[in-house]
Amino acid sequence: MSTNIKRIGVLTSGGDAPGMNAAVRAVVRSAAFYKIECAAIYQGYQGLIDNKVKMMNARGVNNIINKGGTILKSARCLEFRTKEGRKKAFETIQKHQIDGLVVIGGDGSFTGAMIFQSEYNIPVMGIPGTIDNDIYGTTHTIGYDTALNTVIGAIDKIRDTAISHNRLFFVEVMGRDAGHIALNAGIGAGAEEVLIPEENMGLERLLESLKRSEKSGKSSSIVVIAEGDKSGKNVFEIAEYVEKNLPYYDVRVSVLGHMQRGGSPTCFDRVLASRMGVFAVESLLAGKSNMMVGLKNEEMILSPFEKAIKGKSEINKDLIRVSDILTI
Ligand code: ADP
Repeated sequence: MSTNIKRIGVLTSGGDAPGMNAAVRAVVRSAAFYKIECAAIYQGYQGLIDNKVKMMNARGVNNIINKGGTILKSARCLEFRTKEGRKKAFETIQKHQIDGLVVIGGDGSFTGAMIFQSEYNIPVMGIPGTIDNDIYGTTHTIGYDTALNTVIGAIDKIRDTAISHNRLFFVEVMGRDAGHIALNAGIGAGAEEVLIPEENMGLERLLESLKRSEKSGKSSSIVVIAEGDKSGKNVFEIAEYVEKNLPYYDVRVSVLGHMQRGGSPTCFDRVLASRMGVFAVESLLAGKSNMMVGLKNEEMILSPFEKAIKGKSEINKDLIRVSDILTI
């Protein structure tokens, strides 16, 4: 490894995701392994602007690999969107002699990192941490697997009630622009139908499907709906519409909300975060910058920020087919 990087900074930014702590741990420990220093920056870009920086050694990240959220805290920072804000952030970088930055966050955080890099030429590496899995350049983002498991755990419990009372449940899950959580958790939890932002199945098709299942003898059903589904109605309006048209169903709505972000990360997310943290530090030390680490075909890869931000993480169409077949 050969660059003149002697001290790196690490921060978590944007929406928190389980596994961010495992990534912070991996960055701090890799820095120690390669004999460079690591500065922890608290509250994302806000902490960079407000000089909330603390040196962190390998022992400073003991006992966090199993913890949800982020010990570094996260923040949405309006000031970093301004030139003046980024100037203050760079003053903090200079003050602490930080000569490389690891940003753990989503595409908004990477946009900020890219602009910062272009203005001040500080080497930056991104680690994708978001439960939505909506980032191009990696098959999995940190936190996604944990969120999926949280969602199917919740739906399993809802199913107990649905069966006991012959009810039809509409379960809203996170995903404004991406249906990865809805589609995968829908299949994993055996949902009757899944409504996602990528496809507009139309409410008529939903009614037909529910009629069919009632005729075939199903007395309870679960429909999973992503926040950003394309029906033009929210989950309560969809439930009302179905109840009006299919009065024999006893309809209930459950919005899972922020519980999907929390909890102890799964083994998959811990391993992913650990690999990404190590690879991010190694990539910075190899002179790479302005890139995001990702997972593809079991290997660690790098993608330029620009691609990661602008590219679209496509939904796996075969999963839609599988879901359709299994809900017969
Ligand atoms: P995420 O990283 O999860 O997508 P956000 O979109 O909220 O979350 O972005 C996190 C932070 O990144 C913002 O609060 C802001 O400080 C910074 N950021 C986002 N977009 C820009 C931008 N265009 N210019 C500068 N900073 C940005």
